[in-house]
Amino acid sequence: MSGNRRGFVLILSAPSGAGKSTLAQYLVKNYTDIVNSISTTTREPRPGEKHGEHYFYIKKEQFQKEIENSSFLEWAEVFGNYYGTSKAVVEETLAKGTDIILDIDWQGARLIRKSLPKEDVVSVSIVPPSLKELRLRLEGRGQDSSETIDKRMNQASEEMSHWREFDYLVINDNIEEGKADLLAIVRAERLTRDRMASQIEKITSGF
Ligand code: 5GP
Repeated sequence: MSGNRRGFVLILSAPSGAGKSTLAQYLVKNYTDIVNSISTTTREPRPGEKHGEHYFYIKKEQFQKEIENSSFLEWAEVFGNYYGTSKAVVEETLAKGTDIILDIDWQGARLIRKSLPKEDVVSVSIVPPSLKELRLRLEGRGQDSSETIDKRMNQASEEMSHWREFDYLVINDNIEEGKADLLAIVRAERLTRDRMASQIEKITSGF
């Protein structure tokens, strides 16, 4: 199916605990022509992490230069390290007819919408069924202290308050339904008139 159409950037934004990574992984593993974006960072690789797989690891000076050269679609400083989405990586992927998933928050999503043409971006906000359920999920993971959970709950409210900025909203109540909803979005977006045009033109002109 690919080869003709241009890919699109699929922004997935969600509060931590909403099930975003599970949904993104599901798409990449079970569907063709869609990949996860690999960000560039100045932080050191953690044990087991590989350059070009988890991140592209570069030095701070190099990152600064890349900022000056406008090499990033968006970037942010998190806990003293820089993280960014490379323009070139995204462009090469879209040009190949592959969709690329960007796992970013509402602020990153805003920057991406400013940097890319509208037709290249599809944005989805994944929301938990309720704040109560989100808290239960975070507590159930057993990863965070109650202080961290309170912080995550505040971030979650902030993230969810921006729902109007997204093209699609998936309420991730049941993970199977969440997967089906996300897949429906990707499939429908691939079938829009503009994305189908070159293929249909070939068919209608007799090739
Ligand atoms: P970690 O160091 O744990 O892999 O990531 C730390 C934080 O950086 C996470 O909150 C993650 O979402 C964020 N992050 C990773 N890549 C990017 C990116 O390309 N752009 C932005 N804005 N944040 C990123």
